[in-house]
Order: sequence, then C-alpha cells, then structure tokens
Amino acid sequence: MSFFTLANLSYLVAAALFIFGLKRLQSPTTARSGNVMAAAGMALAIIVTLLETDFANWQLILVGAIIGALIGGVSAQAVQMTAMPQMVGIFNGFGGGASALVAISEFMRLLSPQLTMSNDSGVSIILGTLIGGVTFSGSMVAFAKLQGLMTGAPITWPLQKSLNSALLLAVLALGSYVVFFDQGNLTVFYVIIGLALVLGVTSVIPIGGADMPVVISLLNSYSGLAAAAAGFVVDNRVLIIAGSLVGASGLILTNIMCVGMNRSLANVLFGAVGTADVGAGGSVGAGAAAGTVRDVSAEEAGMILAYANSVIFVPGYGMAVAQAQHAVRELADVLKGRGVRVSYAIHPVAGRMPGHMNVLLAEANVPYDELFDMDDINDDFKNTTVAVVIGANDVVNPAARHDTTSPLYGMPILNVDESEHIIVLKRSMRAGFAGVENELFFHPKTMMLFGDAKNSVTKLVSEAKAA
Ligand code: NDP
Repeated sequence: MSFFTLANLSYLVAAALFIFGLKRLQSPTTARSGNVMAAAGMALAIIVTLLETDFANWQLILVGAIIGALIGGVSAQAVQMTAMPQMVGIFNGFGGGASALVAISEFMRLLSPQLTMSNDSGVSIILGTLIGGVTFSGSMVAFAKLQGLMTGAPITWPLQKSLNSALLLAVLALGSYVVFFDQGNLTVFYVIIGLALVLGVTSVIPIGGADMPVVISLLNSYSGLAAAAAGFVVDNRVLIIAGSLVGASGLILTNIMCVGMNRSLANVLFGAVGTADVGAGGSVGAGAAAGTVRDVSAEEAGMILAYANSVIFVPGYGMAVAQAQHAVRELADVLKGRGVRVSYAIHPVAGRMPGHMNVLLAEANVPYDELFDMDDINDDFKNTTVAVVIGANDVVNPAARHDTTSPLYGMPILNVDESEHIIVLKRSMRAGFAGVENELFFHPKTMMLFGDAKNSVTKLVSEAKAA
C-alpha cells in the first residue's frame, strides 16, 4: 500500500472519529468520551499531516503547539461556567484568524516568480482570508461585549446593513481582481484583509448583549468554514472535513438557539434587540406588571416543600452564577427521602448556552431521568404542588405569551405559573437577560425567597430536614 493511500485511510479514520465524537456530544453521559474521541481524531490527523510533509518546520510547529496547548489548557481550567460563551468566542476568533493567516501566507508564497496561482487556489485564498478575517475581528468584538470590556448594548447607525453589504461586495470584487486580472497585486490584497476585518466588526457591533451567544455560535460556524477554505488552500482533506463539520454543527446549534427563543436568525443579526449588558440585569420600576411582591422566609418555604406531593425545580442562569447545583441536588435528596416527587424542568435557552443547565446538574450527579425538556414537562406544572424557580427569570416570564410589546413575546416558556405554589429564588427584583420586568414575581401564588441561590437552597435543606 502506498503512503498516499495509507495517509488517506488515516484521514478517513480521523474523520470518522470526529463524526462519532460529535454524535456522542448529544448526551451528558457520553459527551466526555465523545470529546476524547474527536481529540484522538485530531491527533491522528496532525501526525499524518506531519508525515505527509516530511516534518517540515517541525521545530516551529512544536513550539507553537506547546504555547497554544499551555494557553488553552490553563484558560479552560480557569474559566467559570458562566464565562463559557466568551471563552468559546475567543477560541473561534483564533481559529478564524489562524485560517486567514494560512490563506495570507499562501498568497505571499505564490508571489514568487517561479510559481503561479491557479484559479482554484486563488478563490480559496480569498474566501479563507474573508471568512477567517470576519471571524477573527467579529469574535474579538463578541468577546469584548460579553466580557464587559465594551458596552453590551447594540451599537447602531443609519445604513448599517447597506454598509455591510457594500463591504462584502467590495471584498468579492477586489478578490476577483487579484485572482483573475492582477495576481501579484499585494496592495489590493492588503485592502481585502483590512475590509474583511472591518466587516467582522461592523457585523457584530449592532448585535445586543442578549443575542451574543447566538452570534458566537454563528461565528463558530464561520470559523469552521474558514478552516475548510484553509484546507482547500493547503490541499489538506482532513482540514476540509473538520472545517465542514464545525461549519455545519455551528449552524445547527445557531438554529436550535433561535428556535428556543422563537426568533429568526435575521432578527438576531439585524434586530438590534437587547439593551442590557450581559448579566447586569435592569432595575424593575413601576412597570405594567408592578404590584405586590410577597416574600417568604426560608423556614416557611422549607415547610411548604417538605409537605408537598410534587416539586419541580426550574434552574436558570442564577443557579449557574451561584453554583447552587450541588445544594439543589441535596435538597432534592432530602425531599425524595420524605416521599416528595421531584423533577427538573429544563428550558432550551436557560442559562447562557444550550445544555448549560444539563451540564451543571450532571456535574452534581442529578439522575438524568429526573431531567425533563420543556415540551415533556410543561403539562405537568398544573398538577404540581410547588415550582421552585432557582435563578431563572426570562424563561418563566408569562409576558412571553401575551405581551406583544415584550422582547420575549413568542418565546416558549415554562408554565411555572400553573403550579399550586411558586417559590422564586433570586437576590433582588432585578430583571433577567432580556432586561424586562417579570410579572410572575407579582403573581398572587408567587413567594420570593431573596438571597444568593446557593445560600437560600442550603437554608432550605436544613429547614426541610427539620420539618
Ligand atoms: P435570566 O438571565 O433571565 O435571569 C437570571 C436571574 O438570575 C436574574 O434575574 C438574577 O436576578 C438571578 N441571579 C443572578 N445571580 C444570582 C445568584 N447568585 N443567586 C440567585 N439568583 C441570581 O436567566 P434565564 O436562565 O431565565 O434565561 C436565560 C436568558 O438568556 C434568556 O433570555 C435567553 O434568551 C438568553 N440566552 C440564552 C442562551 C442559551 O443558549 N441558553 C443563548 C442566548 C441568550 P438577581 O440579580 O435579582 O439575583
């Protein structure tokens, strides 16, 4: 068997490992092994690529790999679960930037008088530079917004969409010029790089804080496309496959998030929705929903829970902030010990990324069969004694059903208000991600237990034990 055939077979194995790895990411039980599988596929791809290129420049590659692995490893260990979207954002940006650099260096290499640029590689170079450049600068803006380094609110100006369209058309026109008419024109190529970077900034800056995680998922998809373009540039089959997989799965994830929020992608990209900085929350004034708020002591709430027939926990972003998941599981154990039926209702966009709540609850060893997706549990609230809302806000806001002026209007919500009693755990009356008041907190059935979710749940554990 020739080395070429062997290399291609190994690439096929690597691609299969990526695909099976991705498949295993679907469930928390198999996600870790899926990650390991995909990483093994990538290790195989790297080794075969090094063999194929006779270990050219291996010292430089090794130094780069060690520095990258150190930065990636340390930051992945250090990052808080709540800061995951911006971490993913910055990694996407580096992926896009790396692909753009591959395309740029190939353009430079082909400037040599002995070489000519074929139309195919010219087109791949321009696409790699464009998509990679947009991904890099767009992701840096997304990171800055989520990290609070700049305002998270949408920044808009007149003719924004026209400007972005003009920038895109200019890159495509100039790209055609340097590929088909004036191949060695470095000045035009530099303009293309600059315009691609500007396009990344102007595309992301009008998008609001609340929509940033969706944009990050979309940029993730772009980074895959940029990698696929880089694969065409350097003629590496496995890079094309890996890039396409990232591109496709990023798009699927983007779609899942849009469906969960009942928004179209166009509305996310151009709607300039969301005015609050991420996680900051707005203050709630005397708005339409303002009324009497009933607070409850941990003692009384613990008593209600201990004597309930059934309890549904509704986790949200605040549970992640408070890291209350372990205490919640402990509370569930105590209640189950008293014969209470316990389940968890998971909204598709609770928290700050898809699967956020599942990951946290899995970390606390909550049995998977107690976790229910929104559609599977929504009809059960009406037969439930107590719904305990732990740091969730937008995903339980009934205004989403009827208030056509609310930014949440149309988003499917958890039917918490149908249960017999509602206990809401949060620190204040501040708004959630969408920055709007929640009429659930003023509902006659609702009792507010103010405080950090972890502290409150810990108190509930002792009260329920003592009851
Ligand atoms: P929200 O962001 O609506 O609300 C979280 C609540 O948690 C806040 O009102 C806050 O109130 C409370 N909180 C914060 N810290 C603590 C703490 N330490 N202890 C107790 N409570 C705390 O969360 P949801 O999960 O309900 O909704 C998610 C939002 O994110 C939706 O608007 C969704 O569209 C959006 N989103 C989600 C994505 C995803 O994929 N999951 C992607 C993009 C957007 P207080 O400050 O008073 O404590």
